Amino acid sequence: PSITRGVAKEVSKVSWDDIGGLKDLKRKLQQAVEWPIKHADSFARLGISPVRGILLHGPPGCSKTTLAKAAAHAAQASFFSLSGAELYSKYVGEGETLLRRTFQKARLAAPSIIFFDEADAIAPKRGGHGGNSSGNATVGERLLSTLLTEMDGLELATGIIVLAATNRPHAIDAALMRPGRFDLVLYVPPPDSESRYEILRIHTRQMKLGADVDLRRVAELTDLFTGADLEGLCREAGMVALRENLSADSVSGHHFLAARASLGPSLTT
Ligand code: ATP
Repeated sequence: PSITRGVAKEVSKVSWDDIGGLKDLKRKLQQAVEWPIKHADSFARLGISPVRGILLHGPPGCSKTTLAKAAAHAAQASFFSLSGAELYSKYVGEGETLLRRTFQKARLAAPSIIFFDEADAIAPKRGGHGGNSSGNATVGERLLSTLLTEMDGLELATGIIVLAATNRPHAIDAALMRPGRFDLVLYVPPPDSESRYEILRIHTRQMKLGADVDLRRVAELTDLFTGADLEGLCREAGMVALRENLSADSVSGHHFLAARASLGPSLTT
């Protein structure tokens, strides 16, 4: 992937199959992202205007970024990613320039997905007590108004869809939720036991597993683990096996149990 001035344009390789669980959510994203790009003519024929913005919210490590990448990959769209926190920390004016430049590049590379991580940093509630010092409040306001201008300027058929992610949906300015902006708000929940099983299967695809490894059991033992936690658990199980024996040829059930004993979930009830 080429990286230009903090804007990463990637052709994402992540596919829907790399994401465990979340069937319903994947279907909604297929329809909201993939369809308008792949079947623009059908939308035009029926006079349907596709959503321009989608807000993904939910706890960290539960695949918001991965979903955005998979949607881009499935739609064969260019993927531009920006971090709200990073924009926010730029020198005065630089964040807005980067934001405008990203939309410009996305238009040239269309169809495109622009993904904003930590969107609450770009668009904190105006006039609220967002925890920012008063001097910085205007930075957020200027970024937000630039973002709104760019989003309002998106012609219906430009093939650009903006996805934003946040762990703190309530901290986001209501102006982003007006019609024609983030019309679709999707909650990305932490995985239940069945989803954890699917995630464990995905992250052990490349691993050599012993016959005694019972991933369903591991899934049951990992309540409150995020997808990212489960990925870490699989890696740790492999490390336990190697620490035990550097020439081990597979990872066994007890390695997973040992990894589970040493790692806790990052979510709380
Ligand atoms: P953050 O809010 O911290 O940015 P996020 O919700 O965007 O987190 P991701 O960055 O998409 O989460 O996920 C982190 C890692 O966890 C990814 O590398 C991914 O491999 C793994 N992961 C998370 N959820 C899943 C899932 N449902 N299936 C497979 N892997 C997952």
